[in-house]
Amino acid sequence: MLPGVTTLREPLSRAVGPKTSKVLEAQFGLLTVGDLLRHYPRRYYTRGELTDLSSLREGDHVTVLARIALASLHPMPGQGNRTRGEVVVTDDRAKLLLTFFFRGYGGQHVFKRLVPGMIGMFAGTVSSFRGRLQLVHPEYELLPGAAPNADLTPELAAEFASEMIPVYPASAKLSSWAISRSIRTVLDTLDVGEDPLPADVRERYRLTGQAEAIRAIHRPLDTEDRDRARDRLKWDEAFFLQAALAQRRLAAAAMPAMPRPHIAGGIADEFDARLPFTLTAGQLAVGETVATELACAYPMHRLLQGEVGSGKTVIAIRAMLQVIDAGGQAALLAPTEVLAQQHYRSITAMLGPLAQRGQLGGAEHATGVVLLTGSVGAATRRSVLADIFTGDAGIVIGTHALLEDQVQFADLGLVVVDEQHRFGVEQRDALRGKAADNRPHVLVMTATPIPRTVAMTVYGDLETSTLTELPAGRSPIATHVVPAADKPHFLERAWERVREEVAQGKQAYVVCPRIGGDSDGPASYEAVGAPDGGDDAGGDDAGDFGDGAIPRAIAAGGRRQPLAVLDVAAALEEGPLGGLRIGILHGKLHPDEKDQVMREFTAGAIDVLVATTVIEVGVDVPNATVMVIMDAERFGVSQLHQLRGRVGRGAAPGLCLLVSEAPPASPARERLDAVAATLDGFKLSRLDLEQRREGDVLGAAQAGQKSSLKLLRLLADEDLIGQARQEATKVVSADPALADHPALREAIDELFGHQADYLDKT
Ligand code: ADP
Ligand code: MG
Repeated sequence: MLPGVTTLREPLSRAVGPKTSKVLEAQFGLLTVGDLLRHYPRRYYTRGELTDLSSLREGDHVTVLARIALASLHPMPGQGNRTRGEVVVTDDRAKLLLTFFFRGYGGQHVFKRLVPGMIGMFAGTVSSFRGRLQLVHPEYELLPGAAPNADLTPELAAEFASEMIPVYPASAKLSSWAISRSIRTVLDTLDVGEDPLPADVRERYRLTGQAEAIRAIHRPLDTEDRDRARDRLKWDEAFFLQAALAQRRLAAAAMPAMPRPHIAGGIADEFDARLPFTLTAGQLAVGETVATELACAYPMHRLLQGEVGSGKTVIAIRAMLQVIDAGGQAALLAPTEVLAQQHYRSITAMLGPLAQRGQLGGAEHATGVVLLTGSVGAATRRSVLADIFTGDAGIVIGTHALLEDQVQFADLGLVVVDEQHRFGVEQRDALRGKAADNRPHVLVMTATPIPRTVAMTVYGDLETSTLTELPAGRSPIATHVVPAADKPHFLERAWERVREEVAQGKQAYVVCPRIGGDSDGPASYEAVGAPDGGDDAGGDDAGDFGDGAIPRAIAAGGRRQPLAVLDVAAALEEGPLGGLRIGILHGKLHPDEKDQVMREFTAGAIDVLVATTVIEVGVDVPNATVMVIMDAERFGVSQLHQLRGRVGRGAAPGLCLLVSEAPPASPARERLDAVAATLDGFKLSRLDLEQRREGDVLGAAQAGQKSSLKLLRLLADEDLIGQARQEATKVVSADPALADHPALREAIDELFGHQADYLDKT
């Protein structure tokens, strides 16, 4: 390395010294010069434009740009030589008090510089004193030029020379301008080397050079300069990620897999012939794609999206049977015991004699279907493991229990993962690793629609298929918000509707956010995915009801715990739904009990199932026509959409009632209104995305790690991401190892070298 030249990979300790680098690492996890330069300004102050002081809130750590209005020093009686300094700063409208305490002559020295009329940046945590907001002992930096100031150093003058002053995400230990100064230090000697973004791409999209962009995002001359820098750096984020993903796609395609071609006259064909319905055009098309990919000598890696009830399972079954015909086994991984059991029941039922290997009445080349969950008894478990090991079990359905070491397949050819969003990366990988020498084919199914750009970034190396139509004869689901607080009689009407449906031989779900009973407290929440109200369970009066008066309990309002399955079921039984057969389902039940309850509900022996979100995914009881969701604002938008997919699965129209006390026009209520207004899952998942931080969307795999996406917005930058993907794929296809693009290779390594987990998510 040349002396005096700084590169992006250089450790910060060398570039800015050990003291500063330690703080940068401790406060923001920044290790290299590249990390520091990707610590982008949160915003920019424009010279002459002061911070709106009326927007400050107590408790915030703030950096404000303001003018000194008054500055005065007061002795502190009875405290020796101590003085209190008061500075009032203003944005020309509101005021903010700055308080300092000094000993000896310190005050005079400091206050010589704090002259009214001067403009400065002041940073600290907002507190309140006698009803006025103040900063106690703020860090500050005065700007040159606003008033005569003899103490200004040339460095400081340069610091604030431009029109726009960057404001960095800062902390009490490290001020925005301290970060600014470190960045200046490295910018002065930075040599980024060759631009990693290929020249023709830069030209095509009129992008600034890398060095120029890095300079301008930190030291913009004006807003245009800054915007150009942002555009370029967004491209970097999108392009490097897409190039890395393209490399992984190619690497996956180079992996050997056993081809499992369609064999005519096998059980797959028999199954098709026995199907009681006609496949939709979408099912046929996706089925065709999957059949072709299974026949390839490299692993299929496909994500199948489709609205709830669009018939994804049939596609999975047909794929599994093709693999079995070709001599392999298939595993179906379900996220919950309830769902695994349901799959087992419905798949054995759909296959009929085709699943009765070696049994009386079984078809000639029937296969075996086994279920393996954590609750399977020891004896059954032994025989199930044996069937998996010998290959007698062609279809192995299960939960996490499938991932255990004792589970050994004779020849695992296909892994189907149902309801993808509940599984972690490692789990899928663990199952994939159970195929002996070859990689199994993988089909991932999800009913949570994934916006295109999320699919391209988070699931970037899965190919995607989407089922857009529902099988014929489905009735649409009507959804209504029931404002329990302002219109209690609406809730009474809701229970009446439930009774009416039951009177017609239909069934109902009542969903609650909490289990309740002994298990009160956060631990009794069940998979309530990010209740984006952000409002935690106020630990007060769960005893609000219990006398059977749910409507009253709800109308009681105030902060109470979210409604619980056990309480609601009891109250309904004694109150509005008295006389109906009410069942309970939640995650704390013993698996056998869960199975029992689901069987009874499926058989129609239970009229109303009061449940947590355990029923969210996959549960399929076509006779259930109405769902009442209590405290609906506790659930996320996509989750509500999933939940209501449980009704309207038969010929009768479905009804979903979202009961909520959220006041009209509140954000929570608007979210519920949005769910009620559309059945378009993609629209709702975009809404979800808009309301959640991108980090949440990028998922657990990135948690605790530095996100590589800082400027890019998955929704707003959809076009850019699409273009970057296309360009990156072109570059990587022509030069998979990036031998001719050393700078690009280096950049990808710099960004993702330590992030292999993230990319492995696919
Ligand atoms: P999901 O996509 O939510 O997993 P399923 O595969 O569970 O949907 O299908 C929902 C229901 O629709 C099942 O009862 C299934 O048997 C039925 N089904 C699937 N495909 C069709 C079709 N083409 N015509 C009629 N019913 C179908
Ligand atoms: Mg399903």
